[in-house]
Amino acid sequence: MEIFTNDFTVTFTNAAATNKAKQIADETFRPLRYDLYNEQPSILAADTLTIENDVTLTFYECCFDSADLLDASRKVIKALALGLKGEDFDFSVCGCDTYTEAWVDGNFQNGVLDMTSTFFPEGYSEYLYCPECGEAVVRMEDYDPNATYVCPECGEEIDLSSAVPVIEKELITIC
Ligand SMILES: [Zn+2]
Repeated sequence: MEIFTNDFTVTFTNAAATNKAKQIADETFRPLRYDLYNEQPSILAADTLTIENDVTLTFYECCFDSADLLDASRKVIKALALGLKGEDFDFSVCGCDTYTEAWVDGNFQNGVLDMTSTFFPEGYSEYLYCPECGEAVVRMEDYDPNATYVCPECGEEIDLSSAVPVIEKELITIC
């Protein structure tokens, strides 16, 4: 059984925008189709969307794999920007499954959607720890493809060249 972690959060500045966002997100998630063991994570996502503290739209119990979460979230966030042109919001989505990890974050301000998607085809977390002694070695935010990392505890050299993330930045003006 695969374990999926999905965390989807969009934060608005007022309750009215958040309520409208919930409706837009529901309508955008629900018809998406991803074939995953005959389940439909997009329907589960729509069914479990919740508003917290009046201004936060979220779900965190769903079963998208990372690639599908990335694709679905980008579609929903674009739909939110189109449907809520006069509003500002921040978003943060992250997901992992057995093999891969991904996240999407950014904001919508003054009609400009600034979105960065990061996908790790080979996973992310396992590269944070030394394979020899388990000590934390390096955070992937500091990833440098030209460097070899060394565990501070046991001196094991760690090659991160197979863990290169696919990063896509989008800047979209909604008019
Ligand atoms: Zn070590």
